[in-house]
Amino acid sequence: MALSKRITGLTGGGSDGWDVYYRAKDMQAQGVDIAMLTIGEHDVGTDISILDAMYGAAKAGHVGYSMFTGNTNLRERVAGRVAERTGVETKPENVLIVPGGQAGLFAAHHAACDEGDTALFIDPYYATYPGTIRGVGARPLAVQARAEQDFQPDPADIAAVAEGAKSLLTNSPNNPTGAVYSLETMEGIAGVCQDHDLWLISDEVYDTQLWEGEHISARTLPGMAERTLVIGSLSKSHAMTGSRIGWIIGPEEAIFHIGNLATHTTYGVAGFVQEAAYFALDQGEAFEAQIAEPFRRRRDLVLAQVAGQNVVRAVPAQGAMYVMLDIRATGLSGEDFAMRLLDQHHVAVMPGESFGEAAAGHVRVALTVADERLNEAIAHLIDMAQGLAQAA
Ligand code: PLP
Repeated sequence: MALSKRITGLTGGGSDGWDVYYRAKDMQAQGVDIAMLTIGEHDVGTDISILDAMYGAAKAGHVGYSMFTGNTNLRERVAGRVAERTGVETKPENVLIVPGGQAGLFAAHHAACDEGDTALFIDPYYATYPGTIRGVGARPLAVQARAEQDFQPDPADIAAVAEGAKSLLTNSPNNPTGAVYSLETMEGIAGVCQDHDLWLISDEVYDTQLWEGEHISARTLPGMAERTLVIGSLSKSHAMTGSRIGWIIGPEEAIFHIGNLATHTTYGVAGFVQEAAYFALDQGEAFEAQIAEPFRRRRDLVLAQVAGQNVVRAVPAQGAMYVMLDIRATGLSGEDFAMRLLDQHHVAVMPGESFGEAAAGHVRVALTVADERLNEAIAHLIDMAQGLAQAA
């Protein structure tokens, strides 16, 4: 039976740049001990107190259908959190509870784009972005951020392709680069969105993982609240990746319509997960800092280790649970370097090429293994890079 072009064309075809990851998983399955520095998943599970809250909520009866748009108490709780942290008035009607940030990205693009519309996004990018845009029938168009500018996007580059586009997707703190957009970058982006009448879809799922600088939520900039859809999630902030819970913050009218989409797609988020999320958010900033702490520590470790030589350059990671390393001095592509590192040293990192063209010649290290293991893995990576650079 023929399938729709939309579903068969979702990934865009060709290699998705994840060969290293799949190979590392195969090697692991064969019993090889691999240092897995690939996926953005905490090396601790969800805190037991949150799991207790979830179990308690399930036992107390939160197991039936829940409100499609999210339970009122959680929408209120998220609205309060956002208002407190950003200073922008936020009501429960500005909040839609969704099963994770990814579902939020999909729904937000549905709200912004019609069939065939152009949706802009910044390269390097989180792997699902182009497929998410294709999934709503829109046309993904990448705007490259440059390694030379530590992957801060240049608003002029966005403006150059913005004519006729419907939306722009940004991500700060950024996966994969660790860049945190400066006020200047954010203001420039806001200007482009206003000049070209774009929706800004602002993926802020790493907003609690900030090592340097300031997280500026796009919605706080003048004139932006009415054209911004912020994507939030408890996956990274509360180590709740498997619970699938997040939110979209936006203008009331947009949230109302995206709520209708929820009724026709997800049918809401499990009530016991929503109750656990409410409990998790109540634990406050100290709890979130505790979840983020290992990544801050390991980011410092990696930067210190890399600082001792000049073949591998670290992109200054200001946030998120990754460090991007520039390995262009070795003469290898990120893909070839990562494959070699896996085969020779059993260290798995993601090639920059799996996040778009702008990060070619880089590899992304997820800071998701114990400190000592990470140090060993980076030592292998540096050794191998130095050997290759000498031979080049
Ligand atoms: N956005 C970015 C930039 C991510 O890195 C991820 C997950 O890694 C997501 C969104 C999706 O997160 P969630 O688990 O909330 O769907």
